[in-house]
Amino acid sequence: MTQHSTESKAAPHADAARHARVLGTLRDALGASAVQGPGEFAGRRHADASRMPCADPIALVRPADTQQVALALKICHSLDQPVVTQGGLTGLSGGACLGEGEVALSLERMRGIEHIDTAAATMTVLAGTPLQTVQEAAHAAGLLFALDLGARGSATIGGNLATNAGGNRVIRYGMAREQVLDVEAVLADGQVIGGRHRMIKNNTGYDLRQLLIGSEGTLAVITRAVLRLHPRPAALCTAFCGLADCAAATTLLSRAQAALPAGVSAFEVMWPGYYDFVTTQMHGMRPPLPGSHGFYVLLESSAANAQRQAQDFEDFLGDMLQAGIIEDAAIAASQSDAAAFWAIRDAPGEYERYLPGRVSFDISFAISDISEAARRCQAALRAGWPQASILVYGHLGDGNIHIVVQEPGWSEASRAAVQATVFGITGEMNGSVSAEHGIGLKRKHVLGLTRTPAEIATMRAIKAALDPKGLLNRGKVFDYNAPG
Ligand SMILES: Cc1cc2nc3c(=O)[nH]c(=O)nc-3n(C[C@H](O)[C@H](O)[C@H](O)COP(=O)(O)OP(=O)(O)OC[C@H]3O[C@@H](n4cnc5c(N)ncnc54)[C@H](O)[C@@H]3O)c2cc1C
Repeated sequence: MTQHSTESKAAPHADAARHARVLGTLRDALGASAVQGPGEFAGRRHADASRMPCADPIALVRPADTQQVALALKICHSLDQPVVTQGGLTGLSGGACLGEGEVALSLERMRGIEHIDTAAATMTVLAGTPLQTVQEAAHAAGLLFALDLGARGSATIGGNLATNAGGNRVIRYGMAREQVLDVEAVLADGQVIGGRHRMIKNNTGYDLRQLLIGSEGTLAVITRAVLRLHPRPAALCTAFCGLADCAAATTLLSRAQAALPAGVSAFEVMWPGYYDFVTTQMHGMRPPLPGSHGFYVLLESSAANAQRQAQDFEDFLGDMLQAGIIEDAAIAASQSDAAAFWAIRDAPGEYERYLPGRVSFDISFAISDISEAARRCQAALRAGWPQASILVYGHLGDGNIHIVVQEPGWSEASRAAVQATVFGITGEMNGSVSAEHGIGLKRKHVLGLTRTPAEIATMRAIKAALDPKGLLNRGKVFDYNAPG
C-alpha cells in the first residue's frame, strides 16, 4: 500500500516553512486552545478504523463552534491548504486518514444536544456528538433516534451523515440520510449554509442537505444537524433462527414483513462460516441454538403494544416452523437474551484481535441476487484460498452483505487477488462496491465498477462547484485536479 500524498514537490525546508506559516496563521486567528502543532499532539491517533496509511497532520484544529470552523476553512482556503475533517475515526474507508502536509479538523469539541422538540419529534445536535449520546437523549425524551451501528459509542453524527451510515435498522427506518431534516455546513471557502429548518416538506430548489450527506467530507464540513426522531417502540421482540439456506431466509423476510403487524425492525443474516467462527473462536460468545444449520437469521420486530406484539411474534415463528421455512428458533425472553443474540451479530467489532490482516467487503446487490452473489463469492474464494477464514453476513433486507477473508501470514499480492475476485463478481452482477461504508481511499480504485464515467464526471463537476481548489478531503472518493 503506498502512502497517499498531497504534498507539493517543493524542497523540504520550503514545506516546513509553509507548514509553520499555516500553523501560525490558524493559531493567531483561533487561539492555542483550538489549534495544536505536531509537538503538542504526540501519541494521538489520527487514522480511522480502515487500516489505511495515515500521515500526521501539520496542524490539528479543534474548533469550539461553527464560526471557528468557518474561520479555519477561510484561512486554509486563502493559503491553498488541504484539510481533512475527522469525527470519531470509526470510518472503514480511510476517508478521515491524512496525506502528507494536511491539516486535521476534528469536531471533538463540538458536541452537545441543543434542542429536542418532542411534539415535532426533532433534535438539533452539534456534529461532533457521539451517536450513542443522541440515542440516549432521544430515549430519555420518550422517542427513538433510529440510526444504530456497532461503533455507536465513538462514531459522531457528523461522521454518520458524511458517510450516510446504514447499520442495523435500515430495513425499517432507512439510512442516515432519512433521519435528517436539515444540516448546517461550512463550505471550503468558509461560507455557512443550512441548519435552520425543522420541517419535513421543503421543496425549495436543490436539496443541498442530501447532496452533502454521503459526500464523505469532500464537499463541506457538517457542523450541526436537525435530526428526525420516531415514536419509541414499547416492545421489542427478538429471535435467533436457524434455516436451511439463504432462499429460506428470503422467504422468511417477505413473510415477516407481510404477517407481523409491526413489521421488521432488523433482519440480520449470517452464513454458517460466520456463525461457526464467532460462536466457537471468539471469547464469551455462546451459540443461541443447540444444532447447526445452513443459515442463521437474527429477526427483530418492534411495536407499540408489548403484550399483543409478543403473542403475534411467537405465533408467527410457530407458523414458520410448521411451514418448514425455519428449522429452529430461540426467542429472547429478556433484554440480556436479546443482547446476547446481538453480540453475535456485533462481533465484527472484535475482528482486529482475531483476524489481523483481513480483507473486508461491504457490497450490495438486488435482494433477489444476494444468494447467488454470496454463493459465487464464497466458491471463488474457497477455490483460490482453501485455508482462508471466509465470513459472510449482512443485512438481507437492504441487499447488503459483508465478506471478511483472512489467511494467517498471507502476502499483499494474495490480498489484492482476493479484492479482484470479490469486486469482479460485484461488478459482473451489477452490485455496489460500497453499500454503507463509503468509498474514501479504500475503494476508490473500484468506483468505476458501480458508477459510470458520466456519473463520475458529474460528481467532479459538483466538486468543482463547491470546492474548486480541491482542498477538502483531497484525493478521497475520486481524483480531482483543481484548474490552473
Ligand atoms: C465496529 C464498527 C462497526 C461499524 N458498523 C457500521 C454499520 O453497521 N454501518 C455503517 O454504515 N458503518 C459502520 N461502521 C463504520 C463507521 O462507524 C461509520 O462510517 C461512521 O458513520 C463514521 O463516523 P465517524 O464519526 O467515526 O467518522 P470518521 O471515521 O471520523 O470519518 C468518516 C468520514 O466522514 C468524514 N467526516 C467526519 N465528520 C465529518 C463532518 N462533521 N463533516 C464532514 N465530513 C465528516 C471524514 O472526513 C471521513 O471521510 C462501523 C465501524 C466500526 C468500527
